[in-house]
Amino acid sequence: MLQITNYINGIFEAPVNDQWLDNYDPSNGNVYSHISNSDAKDIENAYNAAKAAYPSWSQTTLDERSKIMLRIATLIEENLDMLAEAESKDNGKPLWLAKAVDIPRASSNFRFFANAITQFASEAHESVGMGAMNFTLRQPIGVVGCISPWNLPLYLFTWKIAPAIAAGNTVVAKPSEVTPMTAFLLGNICTEAGLPKGVLNIVHGTGPSAGQAIIEHPDIKAISFTGGTATGAHIARTAAPMFKKLSLELGGKNPNLIFADCDYENMMTTTLRSSFANQGQICLCGSRIFVERSLYDKFKEDFVARVKKLVVGHPSDNNVNLGALVSKPHLEKVVSYIEMAQEEGATVLTGGNQVTVGGYEGGYYLEPTVIEVTDDKCRINQEEVFGPVVTIMPFDDEVDALAKANGVRYGLSATLWTSDLNRTMRVSKALEAGIVWVNTWLMRDLRTPFGGVKNSGVGREGGFEALRFFTEPKNVCIKYE
Ligand code: NAD
Repeated sequence: MLQITNYINGIFEAPVNDQWLDNYDPSNGNVYSHISNSDAKDIENAYNAAKAAYPSWSQTTLDERSKIMLRIATLIEENLDMLAEAESKDNGKPLWLAKAVDIPRASSNFRFFANAITQFASEAHESVGMGAMNFTLRQPIGVVGCISPWNLPLYLFTWKIAPAIAAGNTVVAKPSEVTPMTAFLLGNICTEAGLPKGVLNIVHGTGPSAGQAIIEHPDIKAISFTGGTATGAHIARTAAPMFKKLSLELGGKNPNLIFADCDYENMMTTTLRSSFANQGQICLCGSRIFVERSLYDKFKEDFVARVKKLVVGHPSDNNVNLGALVSKPHLEKVVSYIEMAQEEGATVLTGGNQVTVGGYEGGYYLEPTVIEVTDDKCRINQEEVFGPVVTIMPFDDEVDALAKANGVRYGLSATLWTSDLNRTMRVSKALEAGIVWVNTWLMRDLRTPFGGVKNSGVGREGGFEALRFFTEPKNVCIKYE
């Protein structure tokens, strides 16, 4: 069976302890490969390789770094079909989605930061009347750690690695142990593109073992992490006494506010996507839908009818809207939330059942589920489910809508549907979120700051924000006569 080995110093190698984890195909529940179950010894080896590569990589010209990264971007594009098939098999997401979104975006991440680094600038401050000139050096940090989740595997893995290496750092990276395959395949692409050995080291394994060894490593000075809020809190607790730089992109429970004056058809089509794209397993999905009371009954009827028509099936089938959930434990968690919601008194309007797909009976399939709630403070409306489950509820006016939208401990993104420009401005400013989409969803420009407030994280990635994170500013003050 295929072994997913570590990529350290440009070489694929088994973990030192020779321990392996099972890797499941969510579409049928079968084990189809084994993953390195790495520990601190492998992280130390990866760190040593990254440390050795740092002096040379940090002094490589921007032009050269950029060229290598553009070659990686092109090779990802050239391998689109192979990578998309691997991603779909590993994660359960529809193949068409991996082809249209995940893999193209992984390529864009490298291309974007290959170009961004050539435009990144620092500031100069003349101390007028004092005979001094200050300038800011933006220096790479050294060896940095990148840890990513399973929902958008290669997309989010490269979102961290690309700015880290563009800025001149060398990297110890760990993808999720639930979806390691495309990160494994990236190793070959980096070698083929001519990335010097040791610049990127990819170590596989669980959070408590390999991940923990990265965050505890005294000489890995910055950690960029995307994942759950509880893990983020643990990382912050561990890293704080070592004064590491941290970027934490965490969970969400995002509101979707629908006002009666919206463009109804556009709203409806997009809301189906923002609810159930990637089986609802996107941190930006609008899992709490609030609709202005005058539109509520019509919305409820139309939305439920449209959700009933969504097709759940094998990820390789081009006609499916939803594939499989990522793992059995995750499916069980999502199902338990649906049961809990009913115990709380909420009503399942459609969905809620597991789906058996002919020929793939062991797969982790679930119907898209719409739950009507009467209390926005109930657990199904407060806690992140991260599956194909949304709640709906009416609101009375703007004040009520904002109170409901902001009434959670999360603050990642929010979506607003209205044709009133004044309302757009008022509500956008008042929403407690890092990202607000108005009359659209998940429209991304890689130059914009990305991240959350409240329990959705600390720091911003994207554009120059990511390059600022992966560099240390140093003020140089020169006194002159
Ligand atoms: P997770 O927190 O369980 O795991 C994320 C990564 O952290 C994995 O690689 C895991 O192995 C690692 N990890 C776990 N424990 C660790 C430890 N002690 N030390 C170091 N690393 C550790 O999250 P998940 O279940 O993989 O992903 C789902 C979560 O990610 C959801 O909460 C979702 O909202 C969030 N997410 C957030 C964003 C964002 O941009 N804000 C994007 C995607 C997903």
